[in-house]
Amino acid sequence: MAVNNFLNEEQKAWLDVVNDFMDNEITVEYVRHCDQNREYPYEAYAKIAEQGWLGVLIPEEEGGSGGDIFDYALMAEGLGKFGFDFACSVLVPTFTAMNIIKFGTQEQKDEYVKPFISGDIRFSVSMSEPDAGSDVFGTKTHAKQDENGDWIINGAKMWCSGAKADNTVIAMLVRTDQNDKHGGLTMLLIPNDTPGLVINKLPTLSRHATGTTEIFLDDVKVPADSILGKVGQGHEIILNHLELERCAVAGAYVGNAQEAVSNANRYAQQRTQFGTAIYNFQVLKHMLAENQTRVDAARLLVYRAAAMKAAGESAAAETSMAKLYGSETLKQCALDGMQILGGFSNLPEADMERYLRESVQSTIGGGTSQIQRTIIAKSRLKLNNV
Ligand SMILES: Cc1cc2nc3c(=O)[nH]c(=O)nc-3n(C[C@H](O)[C@H](O)[C@H](O)COP(=O)(O)OP(=O)(O)OC[C@H]3O[C@@H](n4cnc5c(N)ncnc54)[C@H](O)[C@@H]3O)c2cc1C
Repeated sequence: MAVNNFLNEEQKAWLDVVNDFMDNEITVEYVRHCDQNREYPYEAYAKIAEQGWLGVLIPEEEGGSGGDIFDYALMAEGLGKFGFDFACSVLVPTFTAMNIIKFGTQEQKDEYVKPFISGDIRFSVSMSEPDAGSDVFGTKTHAKQDENGDWIINGAKMWCSGAKADNTVIAMLVRTDQNDKHGGLTMLLIPNDTPGLVINKLPTLSRHATGTTEIFLDDVKVPADSILGKVGQGHEIILNHLELERCAVAGAYVGNAQEAVSNANRYAQQRTQFGTAIYNFQVLKHMLAENQTRVDAARLLVYRAAAMKAAGESAAAETSMAKLYGSETLKQCALDGMQILGGFSNLPEADMERYLRESVQSTIGGGTSQIQRTIIAKSRLKLNNV
């Protein structure tokens, strides 16, 4: 039974639509070009906005299409086909926007949601700092209110993806109470052209197009109503955010891992050495068989986590399993793909070197593989009541 037989007709059709769109409207050549030139994919983003896909998870009454997390995970799978970086350019804004839907005031929704769906503004999420990575709640960047209620922010954030793109609003985790590690965190919405904000795109191995950034804040001032949720609610917002982020990125890893295996499979059948297609060497055939098995398993983990979340069930461990296995699968498939493509794998037009570079980041961003294992292990402790 094909893995996508677990999808109903509507879900299958949706995945086909996104995959066809990637093949024909976006194209692998465009994704490769943005990576090679470190260019943000503005044209593709506008095309996706035109389709209405930025609002896939947003309720109809807010102007979105009211899809569920399963629809979103399928979109992520399709968008991830030609690389995780490209998928990120759409996933980071869309999963960050959901914080406004869940925790924003009516005024914030009125200000941001429609321009977001139409592609006029985008969102980034800034949790990490130079000294707060896996221990993200060790956030030091601090904000305090002045006599007018405006927020004054000082500090440094790290690795904020997409923050340098035009018209981006950054959802930033800041410290508002030094004495309470978790309860002392607050989320602020900060437009990326706010005076005092310095944002530098970093020359990273991965994420060439969406870009990831360092951010310095020197007495940055934003109005009192820039707060998302309440003072001290940052911890809750980020935990909620991370579950959605992990489900989305896991979908994209699966889409990209599938393409890495398919690409290697096509090449192995075309490339002849010693008078025969290299696919006929059992060692390569088995490598491909094993990797397709991994991709199918990763896909099923994503579908399980997304189905549970769509049904309103708590799925922290299942989401971490999907994220862990999806990212490790992508890394393995890209690494083996490099071996199967031989010397050609090193060229950009083979696409595999891009998949490999991005796969190395996939086991780090959104919580490392070690952190995912810790989350899964904690849930087992609870289950066994140890
Ligand atoms: C390209 C890129 C894009 C990113 N985009 C964003 C973004 O948009 N927004 C954002 O906020 N962040 C972003 N990040 C940051 C990312 O989430 C962090 O890099 C990640 O959480 C790990 O933090 P760290 O890099 O500080 O590593 P560290 O936390 O210093 O970890 C280093 C090593 O120690 C291990 N380790 C740490 N703690 C433990 C533990 N308790 N148990 C076992 N092992 C442990 C880690 O697994 C890792 O192997 C991005 C990162 C990259 C590279």
